[in-house]
Amino acid sequence: MPRGHNNYILVVFDSCRYDSFSRARPNVIRKLGKVEQRWSYATWTAPSHYNLLMGLMPHKNPRHVYASDYYQTDFLRFNERLGSTGLEFRSFIPRLSLPVLLQQLGYRTHAMVSLPVLNPATPINTGFDTFELMPKHNDMRAMLRRMSFDEHQPCFYLLNVGETHYPYALPGEPEEKWPKISGVHGVFKHLDELVVGGKIRAKKSRMFSESKLAELQDRQVEAVRYLDRVVEELFDLVPDDTYVTITSDHGELFGEDGYFGHGPVHHDKVMEVPFVEGKLR
Ligand SMILES: [Zn+2]
Repeated sequence: MPRGHNNYILVVFDSCRYDSFSRARPNVIRKLGKVEQRWSYATWTAPSHYNLLMGLMPHKNPRHVYASDYYQTDFLRFNERLGSTGLEFRSFIPRLSLPVLLQQLGYRTHAMVSLPVLNPATPINTGFDTFELMPKHNDMRAMLRRMSFDEHQPCFYLLNVGETHYPYALPGEPEEKWPKISGVHGVFKHLDELVVGGKIRAKKSRMFSESKLAELQDRQVEAVRYLDRVVEELFDLVPDDTYVTITSDHGELFGEDGYFGHGPVHHDKVMEVPFVEGKLR
């Protein structure tokens, strides 16, 4: 089994739509490489993270190729991410789990998640040495304080970041200032974001005025600008030979065609995600 030597960090800005990310023009994150528009395999958090942890990044929506060929080619990108050679798709079989594979390659594997739907009691917690649901749903900086690196053993971190998730709140913002949309807020509190979105019913449309929806996307853009500064701290923290991927698990609807949020939403905008990756130094 080939051994990797890069640390690998997979950062997922939860719910961050591609155009929110590009509007924010994050200067630090762009140091990783070209920001691509890609497409998620799923419309909400749990299946999308399951997919990411199968080693499948958001896809390029390629034409004229077989899915199996695309999967295998995409998987070989891990040779660059991990700084290894000779990693083959068959080394992934039968578990089809990125964290399990990384453990076999000699990695320590860690997850820090913001959304309770990914909590450590769920099956997503497979192949991790540590797995933590963060005390707050929106504090990436608190994750950085928990990270450590070992010069003798490479490590993998999955960071599920919640600032970009509804209600797009930065950690310093008091809860009473969060935008309140009747129904949606309650769902968030009680179902742990399981069902944030859906079609806005006509009789309730006054709750989703266009200006309110524009303001909500502005808040997501602002969250990306804030996270760009936190990512700068991440870049300062990590050792040489660290490869970082920053992407999102799915997009978000801000009123387009009558939809809000993500989850039970079938719409292009819920699939569009940013994707950027590279090695720092
Ligand atoms: Zn999500």
